[in-house]
Parts: sequence; structure tokens; C-alpha cells
Amino acid sequence: MLTILSELVDAMVRQAQAEHPIETCGVIAGREGSDRPLRLIPMRNAAASSDMFMFDAREQLQIWREMDANGEEPVVIYHSHTASRAYPSKDDILCAAEPHAHYVIIPTDPEHGSDIRSFRIVNGAVVEETIKAVEHYSGEKPLPLSEDRSSHVNHHSYSNRSATADRRSEAY
Ligand SMILES: [Zn+2]
Repeated sequence: MLTILSELVDAMVRQAQAEHPIETCGVIAGREGSDRPLRLIPMRNAAASSDMFMFDAREQLQIWREMDANGEEPVVIYHSHTASRAYPSKDDILCAAEPHAHYVIIPTDPEHGSDIRSFRIVNGAVVEETIKAVEHYSGEKPLPLSEDRSSHVNHHSYSNRSATADRRSEAY
């Protein structure tokens, strides 16, 4: 599953629509090992094509070096499909070099659906995953609602539980 801030989803969609009918592309960096996309980096489609994308080699090298220096990795690699459904093409599968990345495809031709989709592509195998758009990543905000509820309900059962614990300790 890809968990991603909805503002990042909106930014990808805006970029894809602005560059239609050329395929848009870019990456979203996140702290290494976090699986949390944070820093969106729009990139140039060196192929300037409506049916494929290709990173500019020099730009890619520079951005990948920058991520390395920041302790980041490409959590999301995204591009748009401007005249086909949001499913990886043969070229997309062939060029997918990041086994830990989420490959996101944004469709900009309503005839082929409007849902953005996310895939893992490892050794030529494509597996679709669900996308969960969130306002904040968990851990960034406390969850007071669930805490309140548990302290309320537990008042009575707490004594039961300690009684069970007493009985157990007697048995040993
Ligand atoms: Zn593609």
C-alpha cells in the first residue's frame, strides 16, 4: 500500500494536466527506509513524448545524488499516461530500476479512467497496490479520540484483569 499526503497527489495531478498531452514525470523523495513520500521533484521528460517518458540522464544523476546527500531515497516515481490506461507499459516495466519505489501512474485522458494507480515493479513483475491519501502521516499528530475511549471503558475491567492476574500468580 502507498500512503501519501493528499497534497502530493494533487500536485502530481496538476503537473500531469499542465503537461498533457506530453507525459509528465518526476519523483517524490522521502527519508531512507521511511516509506513516506515528502519532497516532490518534478522532472523533465527527455523523450517529450505522448506515449513514453524518459528521465534526462544528467538531471536524474543530479537529483539522485542530492537525495543520497540528504539521506533520502525515491519513495515514489511517477509519470502520466496521456492516451492510455494507468497501467505500466512494456517500457515502464523494462526501465523500472527501483525495487523499493512505488510506481505511480496518473491518467490524463478521461476516456481511459481517472483514477491514479500505484504499482511495485520488481524484476519485470508488476503488482498493483492500493493508494491511501492522508492529510497527515500517522505519528505527526496524536490520536486523542482512541485514547479517551480506552481510558473510559477500562475503568471497570481493570479490576477484573488484576484479579485474574492475582489468581494466576497464586497458581505458580
Ligand atoms: Zn508509462
